Amino acid sequence: MSAQLFVVATPIGHLDDMTFRAIEVLKSVSLIAAEDTRQSAQLLKHFNIETPLTACHDHNEANRIHQLIEKLKNGENLALISDAGTPLISDPGFKLVRAAQEHGIRVTPVPGACAAIAALSAVGLPSDRFSFEGFLPSKSSQRLSQLEKLKDETQTLIFYEAPHRILECVKDMQAVFGADRAVGFAREITKTFETIKKMTLSELVKFIEQDHNQQKGEIVLVVGGATTEKDLSQAKLDEWLQRLLQDVSVKAAAQIVADLTGIKKKIAYQRALELTQSQD
Ligand code: SAM
Repeated sequence: MSAQLFVVATPIGHLDDMTFRAIEVLKSVSLIAAEDTRQSAQLLKHFNIETPLTACHDHNEANRIHQLIEKLKNGENLALISDAGTPLISDPGFKLVRAAQEHGIRVTPVPGACAAIAALSAVGLPSDRFSFEGFLPSKSSQRLSQLEKLKDETQTLIFYEAPHRILECVKDMQAVFGADRAVGFAREITKTFETIKKMTLSELVKFIEQDHNQQKGEIVLVVGGATTEKDLSQAKLDEWLQRLLQDVSVKAAAQIVADLTGIKKKIAYQRALELTQSQD
């Protein structure tokens, strides 16, 4: 068999999340390319893995690729790991994987923990379609313009954010997406102070402001997509129609709700009619 590059996921907190296969593969390869060799050395020690490590991070990836590809071409199996979770997911490794593929080297994933997927699986927001947005820009003006581009996205949105920026980031989200947009807050997943909550953006701003511990550790934000016909609740639809029907006709109320929510005008009209008839 020709050599393979294994892309190996490692735990995002709880060491028991290391997979049997990850340990087996890391023991079997001749060299492990790691984002931070000192950090990974601790992980390897914990699992009695004695394979040598070599640094492969954002700053040296381009140079290191050449040496790693040569080793692979000489028949050595290599593994790629990052500090935590799945390599390439807001972590280095893309250039190495692409280069390996271009040289006809088999790239084999060894799946495991990923903070984005762990958060999505537990916050209780639609998971059928989602967009992973990684880290937003650190400058507020750039962050706001990026959020503007995502404002009408109906898929669930997943963001990584640094703890020292979490409050300003959630405030910017509130300004752009609105105070009532649903958000999942997943902090310190798999660790001692794990916090998983779902609330609105305005509630999250208050929650983070009132408890400074929520501005510590590692955080994933999962933001509900823009409202669509599918997830506009019956109660909300009724509330809007009833308010509009105080001032405008059934037809106009249906049109306004259809324009604002994307719900079919026929459905809004039918419901508005039912509401007016039930009031008679
Ligand atoms: N490759 C990693 C993965 O698969 O999730 C992500 C690496 S990225 C540099 C680090 C970011 O991931 C953190 O800033 C945080 O947003 C998120 N993250 C990583 N571990 C986490 C955890 N245990 N709980 C919550 N978020 C986490």
